[in-house]
Amino acid sequence: MNYYSLNKKAPIVSFKDAVIQGIAPDGGLYFPERISPLPPPFFKNLDQLSNQEIAFTAIRQFVSDDIPDNKLKEILAEVLDFDFPVVPLTDNMGTLELFHGPTMAFKDVGARFMAQCLGYFFEKSEEEVTVLVATSGDTGGAVANGFLGVTGVKVVILYPSGKVSEIQERQLTTLGKNITALEVDGTFDDCQRMVKKAFVDEELKKYRRLTSANSINVARWLPQLLYYLFAFKQVQEKEQEIIFSVPSGNFGNLCAGIVAQRIGMPVRHFVAATNVNDTVPKFMETASYDPKPSTATISNAMDVGDPSNFIRIRHLYDHDFDKLKANLTSYSFTDEETRSAMLSIYKKTGYVADPHGAVGYLGLRRYQESHPETYGIFLETAHPVKFLDTVTSTIGKRLDLPTQIRKVMNKEKHSIKISTYEELKQFLCTA
Ligand SMILES: *Cc1c(COP(=O)(O)O)cnc(C)c1O
Repeated sequence: MNYYSLNKKAPIVSFKDAVIQGIAPDGGLYFPERISPLPPPFFKNLDQLSNQEIAFTAIRQFVSDDIPDNKLKEILAEVLDFDFPVVPLTDNMGTLELFHGPTMAFKDVGARFMAQCLGYFFEKSEEEVTVLVATSGDTGGAVANGFLGVTGVKVVILYPSGKVSEIQERQLTTLGKNITALEVDGTFDDCQRMVKKAFVDEELKKYRRLTSANSINVARWLPQLLYYLFAFKQVQEKEQEIIFSVPSGNFGNLCAGIVAQRIGMPVRHFVAATNVNDTVPKFMETASYDPKPSTATISNAMDVGDPSNFIRIRHLYDHDFDKLKANLTSYSFTDEETRSAMLSIYKKTGYVADPHGAVGYLGLRRYQESHPETYGIFLETAHPVKFLDTVTSTIGKRLDLPTQIRKVMNKEKHSIKISTYEELKQFLCTA
């Protein structure tokens, strides 16, 4: 499978080169040349297949010959070694829990898949590659964990000192091996600025080959389509038509869901639920795309004012607004609405949702007010303990720490403190 740049001013590349480059040289996002539907019996018989069999069939066309079949199977076995349960909440609603991975955030699958692909591409190479990432919390942990122990790849993570939660900091700083955490005296924006500067620093390129593990990378984006198939497998005997509500920030996850639909999975409709960062809900009202600076909320992994993957979604509908609107509805919700949803889900069903999942729930409920005949699934993208303070202060219940989290809390933190770009550069040139 080849990939082209959505800016159309860069050469067409293989899957391998799209993964290594991340973004095309003309600044565009890579997009597969073709999305081919799978035979309908595949979707009818999902419940007779293992998750790994489903994954191999669904993802193979996007990888094609760049990774041999037996290696791809091996990679998928490694990436998908945990559960993706749909927990029923009412007669017409369930939640797809995507947080059973090693860092308890849904980004684990994409980050691990990308790590395994890069590891394979560099396994036999003399060269080594360094993945450089800035994190405001969640992404860094998933990336660090995904790349842990992958040969030929080093990971350097920048995070803002004192501005990530204790659990998140432990997940970044206790791994060791090929992972180094740089604790930056500054904000997330400072970390991001330093990383961007490093990528265009010509002198630095003599010392290291740098790459990003950004969410626009095709190897992080595409495997997310598997979530929807795993969910569909569990609800396919339902008589109602299926809809998905996706709590969205950069819109990679939702876009992957639409790809699952394009390869033939029967889905009636998608709901994109956001917090007050409502660039997409506004677009769906006005057909005018006006990005803006992000606003901080309690569902902070979705605090995005200019969602990078939305361009892929528009492309999937040939930039035809009416076609898009027929398949996607979008709503935004305030922190107050999110907290009261967390409380009402808990009171009605005993289920503890995190703030991101609660935004997804709100989107689903609003859509179902006018479409009660559907069966809706909202995606739970993080375990509630990852947003412990918000969850406990909202529902007034203490949460037990799961084993994945308890394990890291007992480990010793290792970080290198830096405050300027020069210090980052020095580290990258000498370490
Ligand atoms: C990243 C993230 C999201 C948003 O996903 P996108 O693909 O960027 O839309 C939602 N919830 C959590 C917990 C996340 O970490």
